[in-house]
Amino acid sequence: MHCPFCGTHETKVVDSRLVAEGQQIRRRRECISCHERFTTYESAELLMPRVIKNDGTRQPFDEDKLRAGIQRALEKRPISIEEIEACITRIKQRLRATGERELPSREVGEAVMAELHTLDEVAYVRFASVYRSFQDINEFRDEIERLSGAALLNREQDKD
Ligand SMILES: [Zn+2]
Repeated sequence: MHCPFCGTHETKVVDSRLVAEGQQIRRRRECISCHERFTTYESAELLMPRVIKNDGTRQPFDEDKLRAGIQRALEKRPISIEEIEACITRIKQRLRATGERELPSREVGEAVMAELHTLDEVAYVRFASVYRSFQDINEFRDEIERLSGAALLNREQDKD
């Protein structure tokens, strides 16, 4: 691989390890010529289902858009980049596991919410509020109530 700093053709791998629950390999490389170091990530390219938008149009699955949405929801939350990448990997696995070649965008949103729900409750609520655009405001309110109820319950337990 060419060095991104000086363009030299030869770089060497100085470290290599599995990340994102073994779905990616992270390599630290060093340029033979200018000795700058950089990192590459390698993962298998598996075909994702296409996404059916609400207006019926089909679009290729957009991982960058997915990542941006998740990062927005996780802003200022104590979640590492590694955890975010693992979360994205699980969402993609979930969508591929349907075996469908096309999926409604709603199902993509539900898969994201299911993963965020286990990763970070605050991010989950943020994402859900944007994603659902308050279309089903009642369901959203129920969820907030359920979460604040759970928070109360935790406080009660802490007293013991
Ligand atoms: Zn170089």
